[in-house]
Amino acid sequence: MLNLRATLPIAARKGDILQLMKEHDVLVVCGETGSGKTTQVPQFILDDMIESGHGGYCNIICTQPRRIAAISVAERVADERCEPSPGSDGSLIGYQVRLDSARNEKTRLLFCTTGIVLRKLMGDKNLSGITHIIVDEVHERSLLGDFLLIVLKNLIEKQSSKGSRKLKIILMSATVDSNLFSRYFSNCPVVSAEGRTHPVTTYFLEDIYDKIDYRLTSDSAASLTHGTSARGQILQRDVVTKSRGKKNLFLSGWGDESLLSEREINPYFVPSCYQLYSEQTQQNMKRLNEDVIDYELIEDLICFVDETCSEGAILVFLPGMSEINCLHDKLVACSQFGGPSSEWIIPLHSTVVPSEQKRVFLRPPGNIRKVVIATNIAETSITIDDVVYVIDCGKHKENRYNPQKKLSSMVEDWISRANAMQRRGRAGRVKPGNCFCLYTRHRFEKLMRPYQVPEMLRMPLVELCLQIKLLSFGYIKPFLLEALEPPKVEAMDSAISLLYEVGALEGDEELTPLGHHLAKLPVDVLIGKMLLYGAIFGCLSPILSIAAFLSYKSPFVYPKDEKQNVERAKLTLLNDKVDGPCNTNDIDRQSDHLLMMTAYKKWQRILTEKGTKAAQKFCNSVFLSSSVMFMIREMRMQFGTLLADIGLITLPKDYQKHGKKIGSLDNWLSDASQPFNIYVHHSSVIKAILCAGLYPNVAAGEQGIAAAALSSLKQSSSYANSHRTVWFDGRREVHIHPSSINSNSKGFQYPFLVFLEKVETNKVFLRDTSVISPYSILLFGGSINVQHQTGQVIIDGWLKLTAPAQVAVLFKELRLALHSILKEL
Ligand code: ADP
Ligand code: MG
Repeated sequence: MLNLRATLPIAARKGDILQLMKEHDVLVVCGETGSGKTTQVPQFILDDMIESGHGGYCNIICTQPRRIAAISVAERVADERCEPSPGSDGSLIGYQVRLDSARNEKTRLLFCTTGIVLRKLMGDKNLSGITHIIVDEVHERSLLGDFLLIVLKNLIEKQSSKGSRKLKIILMSATVDSNLFSRYFSNCPVVSAEGRTHPVTTYFLEDIYDKIDYRLTSDSAASLTHGTSARGQILQRDVVTKSRGKKNLFLSGWGDESLLSEREINPYFVPSCYQLYSEQTQQNMKRLNEDVIDYELIEDLICFVDETCSEGAILVFLPGMSEINCLHDKLVACSQFGGPSSEWIIPLHSTVVPSEQKRVFLRPPGNIRKVVIATNIAETSITIDDVVYVIDCGKHKENRYNPQKKLSSMVEDWISRANAMQRRGRAGRVKPGNCFCLYTRHRFEKLMRPYQVPEMLRMPLVELCLQIKLLSFGYIKPFLLEALEPPKVEAMDSAISLLYEVGALEGDEELTPLGHHLAKLPVDVLIGKMLLYGAIFGCLSPILSIAAFLSYKSPFVYPKDEKQNVERAKLTLLNDKVDGPCNTNDIDRQSDHLLMMTAYKKWQRILTEKGTKAAQKFCNSVFLSSSVMFMIREMRMQFGTLLADIGLITLPKDYQKHGKKIGSLDNWLSDASQPFNIYVHHSSVIKAILCAGLYPNVAAGEQGIAAAALSSLKQSSSYANSHRTVWFDGRREVHIHPSSINSNSKGFQYPFLVFLEKVETNKVFLRDTSVISPYSILLFGGSINVQHQTGQVIIDGWLKLTAPAQVAVLFKELRLALHSILKEL
């Protein structure tokens, strides 16, 4: 281990790093990925402290953007030092991530996620117990990372003006633009480690077809003659398709046949024909197959490398867990990788458990080829030394704001050129390597962004603003304006006004009790509010499902021409009772959200009782997407553990550790005998909580007010109207989306709908809707006055017409009571 460590490029800079740290409070360390920053620099400091007799009180923290990296690095460092595993007796090394920590009072070097440091700030704004803080991967420019830098900059300024305790800060970065960070901290010194990589040969999509020798068969050549397009124009997007068995590239309906002859087509048709087309057409052609992830091509490539290339592991970059699992299943099923080889096809993403994760560093026996299928976690955080071949799909999942949903969610997008270079570099660790890019050279050179836009400039700032308030860092805007690259004023304004609307802030930017709890939940505020209320009001399980569907997507699929069958399936789902009298009255039928919740409940029951196959069959029979259902299960569990994390519910002991028995945790969360689930059968409560989260997204039916009031006076149970109901969202007319089960309804129990998403085409459509009682709006909405276009105050009007004055007063008092319940939590 010592020899290995001594040969890492960073080892040569140990003296400089320690010396500069004595002279300065802040230091930037940069060096190529794999040069040893993460594993070595914290140890340089620890050893130096021990040697100088300060080992007893030093307290070094090293932050990682991802939990998997924090755990894996801590274990690696403990191994390198021949210490017992992190957190156990006699180990100086520990780690701490959300819901999992391995540390004790002897821990001197702690690896943790950025979020954990922010939580420490809540306890102690000056981080007084900490001697060194190492911020790793600063180049990633994550929202929390940039936020932490503002906090540290303020701390350092305070400490130099007071001349008191000396907190040392080390920023570690993989990019060359380390000057950006140095300037931010008053031109602090920068130490760079020498790179040490071998050349990597890169093949782009067009070269790949060439390389693995896809040829045109005479069949497909024949189909060329059917092409009727004008010169150089591409008519169809699916011009290039392959037949896997024959490893052929078929071209059909493609371009101007007069230019193409068999001679030109064979053998290396694709690259050479580019020259025949105008630049525009070439661009079209080059984009052809990039948009979807072509698993077959990846599989072919892996087989190709395995069969024909020299020793070395293959590293495949895919955007996310589901894609990784998909490729993994395909490879394991493929004869070439069956048997013992299948053990060496290793998925690597954030939910792989640490023991599994360690396998990526091992060498396979004999002539077995190691294939690691990873997310961008293997881009900089984790270095696998024996990789010689990289296959890069060019995409990743990025947290992005969705203005239609008003939520941020993970979306798939192209990586930046810097990311692409980083991925490519992974192939040249031990010897010259190869990188296969599943995108064209044109995409790489012309279309990819040079760098990723920092999260602070592209993400909503709502949750961050809440953190600022929770940590009492003063007014939001002046604080954020100190960032490395401050966000736009409009972005800050819209975040602040949402916080007022939701009820998290009041008065002069003061945090309300609700805001206080929301700040501790690392989810979107709307979803967070719904979850809090769900747990408090005893209908957690349904709200977990609804919150998950809202943050992800509806599970229903709409095969072409089957709209009516889907509608029928939805009704069957609702009518078919799961447990007793719930879900049978009208009120349940008028909610897409409750329908999704019911679908989940049934799916979950079938999955636990009858297994995966039966669950899949159920999905097929009622037009549900099985993968969405599994995702929802995952998210329910995550939400559940978040609530446990802030102490709102208590998980059973053996669930505390991450990665254990996801399925049974989900069943536990649905257990109706749990105190947080006592009202799971009361759909009116569930809808009220739904309203709490979705407010102010309320639409009111225009003719509804008077008619509804009248019918309610007559004790009739439903608001029926022979005319089409016209809905307003407060500003304009809106329509119920045809996919909603409310789209064909004539009568509504109440003339009020809540919704999350508006889509604008020729009209404004509300996606999924739920009919809710105005009393829910009164009790749980943000403010009592919902107005429609004519300026009439609908809810107050409703109340006047339907309820005696005392009831109105009672409702206002109930609202206050609810508020104080939250205050006392
Ligand atoms: P950097 O932070 O500069 O990217 P690291 O400190 O992460 O570099 O890695 C330094 C070296 O240690 C790399 O060669 C890497 O492969 C190796 N390494 C890191 N973690 C492990 C591990 N768990 N097992 C084996 N080797 C590891
Ligand atoms: Mg590192």
